[in-house]
Amino acid sequence: MTIGVLALQGDFDAHRQRLEELGAKVVLVRKSEQLDEIDGLVIPGGESSTFLKLLGADGFETLKQFVRVKPTFGTCAGAILLANEVENPKQAGLGVLDVRIRRNAYGRQLESSIREGKMNGSPLEMVFIRAPKFEQLGTGVEVIATEGNDPVAVRQGNVMAATFHPELSEDPRVHAAFLQTVKEDLVDRTMGMLESGPSLSEVLKHERSAHPDKL
Ligand code: GLN
Repeated sequence: MTIGVLALQGDFDAHRQRLEELGAKVVLVRKSEQLDEIDGLVIPGGESSTFLKLLGADGFETLKQFVRVKPTFGTCAGAILLANEVENPKQAGLGVLDVRIRRNAYGRQLESSIREGKMNGSPLEMVFIRAPKFEQLGTGVEVIATEGNDPVAVRQGNVMAATFHPELSEDPRVHAAFLQTVKEDLVDRTMGMLESGPSLSEVLKHERSAHPDKL
């Protein structure tokens, strides 16, 4: 399983390390061709407006095609990039996560903090850095982690997003959940390929009639 980490800016290396610890092969993605080699993508934290500038219109369109099809996990600025609607200020999103997200939503006093939230009912350390907040979630969006009353990690199909930085804590559960999503997607793709092609017994029957003397 090969995971790409978008490496245009931000803390991509901490993601690389965590994913490798969990057994994934990691590619640091700097060129659009590299998207062809990967089974899933992590968009790290950083500054979402800078990501948009660095991607340019073409990069943005290519990334949009990718995230519609393959599993993607965005943290902080990455979560902002995946959203349908971005506030404070308004900004383009890739539109694959049906949420409204507000940038820098904790105000100046709380620029960064480490707090304890919950993932699947058990405590999880969460590092917030100039973090956004999910203000509204569409009906297809599932909450996978909370901090106080706020949803802080969500999933919609193959797309996952967190407003905190799981790569900066020791706990590997959030990345492990993403790798599980990628694994399931790979299985679905393989099944789809088997279903759309001829079945194994048809292939063997064909082989036998083409080479009757062989078996
Ligand atoms: N404040 C940044 C933004 O709006 C996100 C911060 C982060 O990724 N740590 O894009």
